[in-house]
Amino acid sequence: YLDKIHTFNNHLGAFLQVADREKLLSLADESDARWQKKQNKSALDGIPIAIKDNIHVHGLKTTCASRLLHNYSPPYEATCVEKLREAGAIFIGKTNLDEFAMGSTTENSATQQTHNPWDINKVAGGSSGGSAVAVSAGMSPLALGSDTGGSVRQPASFCGIVGLKPTYGYVSRYGLVAYASSLDQVGPMARDVYGATQLLNAIGGFDERDSTSIRSAPVALEALQRNIAGKKIAILGEISNYINPHVAKVFEQSIESLRSLGAEVTEVEFPFFDYVVAAYYLIATAEASSNLARYDGVKYGQREERKTYQEMLTATRSQGFGKEVKKRILLGNFVLSSGYYDAYYLKAQKMRRRICHLLNNILHSYDAIVTPTTPNTAFTKGESEQDFMKVYVADVTTVIANLTGLPAVSIPCGMVENLPVGLQIIGGALQEQQILNIAYQFE
Ligand code: GLN
Repeated sequence: YLDKIHTFNNHLGAFLQVADREKLLSLADESDARWQKKQNKSALDGIPIAIKDNIHVHGLKTTCASRLLHNYSPPYEATCVEKLREAGAIFIGKTNLDEFAMGSTTENSATQQTHNPWDINKVAGGSSGGSAVAVSAGMSPLALGSDTGGSVRQPASFCGIVGLKPTYGYVSRYGLVAYASSLDQVGPMARDVYGATQLLNAIGGFDERDSTSIRSAPVALEALQRNIAGKKIAILGEISNYINPHVAKVFEQSIESLRSLGAEVTEVEFPFFDYVVAAYYLIATAEASSNLARYDGVKYGQREERKTYQEMLTATRSQGFGKEVKKRILLGNFVLSSGYYDAYYLKAQKMRRRICHLLNNILHSYDAIVTPTTPNTAFTKGESEQDFMKVYVADVTTVIANLTGLPAVSIPCGMVENLPVGLQIIGGALQEQQILNIAYQFE
C-alpha cells in the first residue's frame, strides 16, 4: 500500500499526511508475528486504514484541511481510532477533505486538490473525498470518513466503493471534529460490503465520552449470507423528478436486480423532497456556526497576533477560514439570530420532525428504502465554484438519512459514461444488519 501511495498520491491527492514508513513497517512485522502465533487481536490486525483528517489519531496531525489547524496535533485520540488500534489496525495516513467537512467535492480543502481515479477531470466527491480515493485507487484497503450530510456515501458513490453512515449514536463522535453535532457520524469506507461491515463492527459501540452514544450489537457476519427473498423494499415516489435520467436508468436496473433476488419493491409517497436540502443546510449551518466559535486563536491552532483580543480574533478567523466555511458561519448566525430564528431555524426543525416521522413510519412496514446515492455521477472540477446551489441540491438523496439519524449504505450499482453510480439502502434505526445483508446480496 505504501508503494501505491508513492506511485499514485501525487496524481490523486488523497493523502494529506502519510505515517512514518519505518514505524508502519515495524507495526506490520509485529502484526505478522501475532498472526503466525495465531495471537492476532482481530480480523483487522495488521490491516492499513486511512483516516479522514478531521478524526484524531495519536501521533498524527488533525488539520481538517484548514489553514487554521494546519499545524494542529491533537492531545487525545478518537474513540473509533482507539478501538481500531486495540484491534491491531495500522493507521497509514490522514486523508483530504473539504475544510471542516463542508462541501461535496473536496475542492474546499485549503491544502490540496483530490482527483477522481476514474476520471482525473472529475471531483472525488466530498467531503470524505480523500478517503474514497485512497480506497478506490488501492492505496488503502479501508478508510474512515465522516458523514454529516452524505460525506461518506456520496464520495463512495462517485469513486465506486462502499460507504456506510451508521445510525446516529452507533459510533462515538469523541475525537471527531464537530461540524453539525446532531447530524455527524463516523462511517466505514471499503471496497466491498464485507470489509465495510468488519470495519463498522470494530468502531461501533457505546462510549460514555459521547453523550449521544447508544448501546448496539455488532452486525453478525453470517447474517450477510441470508437470502433476501420476501424482503419489503420501498422506493420514494417522485424521486425520478430529482435525478438525472441516466442515473435513473441504472437505478431501475438495480430495482430489477433486487426483484430478481426475491425482494418486493413498492413505491411509497414521500412529498418532502423539496424541503430536505433546505432543512439540512439551515440546521447544519446553524450548528456549524456554534461549533466553529471555538476557533478563536486562543484554544486551538493558528493565531494571528494583534494588539487587542478583538483584533486577534478577527484576524485569526478571517485568515484561518476559507470561503465556504465563512459562508456557512454567516448563514448559521443569520438563521439563529432573533427575528429570523422562527422564520428559518425553527421551521427547519419542524420539517426535520415531519421527515423523521414519515420515514420511520415507512420503515415500520418496509425492511429498507432504496434511492440512488446521488442524483448524478461525479461533478466536473470547478462546477461547485460556478454554481454552488446545484451542488447543494444534489445532497437531496443523502441528507434524509442524517436528518432522521437512520443508517444508510452506498454500494456501486452501475456506470454512466465510465463513472460509477451508487445505490443507497436506508434502514430503520439500528438496522445496520438488515441494510448490509441486502447490500451484500445485491453486490
Ligand atoms: N455536502 C454536505 C455539506 O456540504 C456534506 C457534509 C458532510 O457530510 N460532512 O454539508
